[in-house]
Amino acid sequence: MVLGAAGGARAEPPPPLVMAAGADRAARPVEAAARDARLAGDGQRTRLVVDLDHAVPFRAFTLGNPYRVILDLSGVSFRFSPGPDRMRRGLVSAWRFGALAPGKARMVLEATGPVAIDRAFVLDAVDGEPARMVVDLVPTDPASFAQASAAARPPAPPPAASPAAPPSADSGDTRPVIVLDPGHGGIDTGTTGRSAFAEKTIVLETALALRDKLEKTGLYRVVMTRTEDVFIPLGERVRIARANRAALFVSLHADALAAGDGQARGASVYTASDTASDADAASLAEKENKADLIAGVDLSDESDEVAGILVDLARRETHNFSAVFARALVARFKGAVRTHRTPLRAAGFKVLGAHDVPSVLVELGYMSTPADLKLLTSDAWRERVTDAIMQAIDAFFAPQLAGTAQRTAGPVP
Ligand SMILES: [Zn+2]
Repeated sequence: MVLGAAGGARAEPPPPLVMAAGADRAARPVEAAARDARLAGDGQRTRLVVDLDHAVPFRAFTLGNPYRVILDLSGVSFRFSPGPDRMRRGLVSAWRFGALAPGKARMVLEATGPVAIDRAFVLDAVDGEPARMVVDLVPTDPASFAQASAAARPPAPPPAASPAAPPSADSGDTRPVIVLDPGHGGIDTGTTGRSAFAEKTIVLETALALRDKLEKTGLYRVVMTRTEDVFIPLGERVRIARANRAALFVSLHADALAAGDGQARGASVYTASDTASDADAASLAEKENKADLIAGVDLSDESDEVAGILVDLARRETHNFSAVFARALVARFKGAVRTHRTPLRAAGFKVLGAHDVPSVLVELGYMSTPADLKLLTSDAWRERVTDAIMQAIDAFFAPQLAGTAQRTAGPVP
């Protein structure tokens, strides 16, 4: 690990705290804006320079499989969008940036091979020049790379804020807990399908609309894995479901096909399976499982899944419930929103990994298909799709809720 330090001997004063406009928002320090970033140099030495309003602390480290350089910055917002021609040079084949957690930003540089961080520092702003973060990369051999990466094992990203907290035992809230999981977020934008829209935004808006509808019924306690544009690792999403003893976990995504792969349309509902139901489902799961990789999460110490006969039994029981809900959901989708020609499928999605929480992943449509994209970004479609999901949830929990007249939002139709 290399800790970036401000260039001058003068200690950087702590940024003042200000309240955000919304009274319910937590106070956050004033952010430094990153206004530009560029690569210079060649295959012997490649330099990344980021222009900042003022110097901020950062840490730089490397991760393998594939070779990556991670830069974690505190209190930085990115205010630039470099063209594709500026994203590749020398030892860097691509890079991306975005929010990792509240107040934390990350840049991920994909390296062409094993690299070492030769220098990493921040220069204070002087004489009208912006503050600059500078990182120099040089080639190294795989063994040295592995050694440096292991020594710099980063701490796990901070867990998501309050939504993960389970209800206290004496809260008396016995309503079923539904965890809504808008896919991607922050540095991981998901797909764009070559459009101006990002999957992470479409699925967040849909999940928030669904949450509002579900909460209005008064029948459920709804927990979101994220309510803003922030990155949440796949394992953390599963942990949120388990920690809240969720009765149902619904992950929302939107798919895209590569250019030239034709135009698929409609929504699909996926359950977890070791054997994918078809090749498209397998490659989709592979794509969605890359979220952690894209955000530079260290996957090397991921513990193996819990095993054991009791877990297996629970998993089978849970899978039956997942399949029941998936079928109910596809039935409600039909007639309400367009569905894929094989709308019920299965594959090894990491985010469906809770062995004791019925879980489905919904691909709402194809962002690469103009007709689908038009729907995905329209209010009318969002109304229909959230209504359909809510009806499927009502049907799924109807046996459990029968006799507990808890509906508070008007008469039962
Ligand atoms: Zn996705």
